Amino acid sequence: MKYTPDRAPLTGETLDSLTARLAERGEPAFRAKQILDWLYKKRARSWDDMTSLSKPLRAWLAETFDLLPAELVLNKQSADVTDKLLLGLRDRSLIETVIIRVPQEGVGLDHSRKTICISTQVGCAMGCVFCASGLAGLKRDLSAGEIVAQLLHVCHLEDARTPRARTELASFDNIVVMGMGEPLANYDALIRALTIVNAGWGLGFGARRITVSTSGLVPKILKLAEEPLGFRLAISLHGATDEVREKIMPVNKAYPLAKLIPAVKAFSEKHGRMVTLEFILIAEVNDALEQAEKLRDLARDLHAHVNLIPYNTVEGLPWKRPSLTRQERFAEVLRRARISVTLRREKGHDIDAACGQLRLQTEQAREAT
Ligand code: SAH
Ligand code: SF4
Repeated sequence: MKYTPDRAPLTGETLDSLTARLAERGEPAFRAKQILDWLYKKRARSWDDMTSLSKPLRAWLAETFDLLPAELVLNKQSADVTDKLLLGLRDRSLIETVIIRVPQEGVGLDHSRKTICISTQVGCAMGCVFCASGLAGLKRDLSAGEIVAQLLHVCHLEDARTPRARTELASFDNIVVMGMGEPLANYDALIRALTIVNAGWGLGFGARRITVSTSGLVPKILKLAEEPLGFRLAISLHGATDEVREKIMPVNKAYPLAKLIPAVKAFSEKHGRMVTLEFILIAEVNDALEQAEKLRDLARDLHAHVNLIPYNTVEGLPWKRPSLTRQERFAEVLRRARISVTLRREKGHDIDAACGQLRLQTEQAREAT
């Protein structure tokens, strides 16, 4: 399951690790920062772009490191301002990264708020019955370099789209770790990647604008609470009682609500920030009003925000989203109790934006040829 590339991804190096590697070659201490500036600040696309480095050093770097360990295979744009990027890794694995644009009033699309959704694994082992990502199980974890590479690809696309007349390095506003895979099952690579994304020598992106979403791996939630960088947390709840949750999320057997809820509470008390409870609405599975009432009680107890997401149909799976009226009635139970709730008019339905669907289709097409 572990994949070892022949060259280490440059996007997986920290300032310290790169400094140490360069010191072996007798390079001065400032060299690592210079190289990372080329990568993240000046957006060098090839070693030869790094003109302040000597040619022999560039040649050594090219042999030793992979500058960007992913290539853009497909960019599927949708009318409702979502871009879905399919990226190919060195072992031909495919991963998905999504750009979600939320237009702001009075300004053009180029100035919309942008949220980037990144993947952490190829496939997923958690087996949630409604999800396309997990259908074929877990292929492998992503390395830190492969996680960071997704964001650098987005930067390159956005740089080409809008002139870089901005004060910030990253051309987006939020990162959500909600793509393919269970981020907390690939914990070390996740934290290393987010550390690189956050660092001043990296993308300089604020930890408080990064949300990690988990299906509920309790020990790792508690570990995440102790991280020095204060990331935000979202929980894929999808069932407000063990009875319902267990039917659709096998993880609930190991970590039932009696374990999950106290862990979420511990996290939010430690951070003093609202946690988000994600709840996909699936017809006749979890859309009964009793579920809404139980969800309301949980959200109140946790002082959490609730994000209701109408289920996105997955080819080959029987689940359906409830009618609009039913979605509204569910949301109303929460609103009446003054719970902070959003009923997502989900983006990108027409480009298969729900996690794992684009990759699944492409792999199926590959197999068919
Ligand atoms: N594994 C993590 C993060 C990735 S999944 C987690 O489960 O939280 C990101 C979100 O998309 C989760 O809330 C997941 O339940 C949801 N999701 C999966 N399949 C979906 C579908 N077909 N329609 C709508 N949301 C879906
Ligand atoms: Fe994995 Fe999340 Fe999909 Fe569950 S919902 S199978 S944890 S990606």
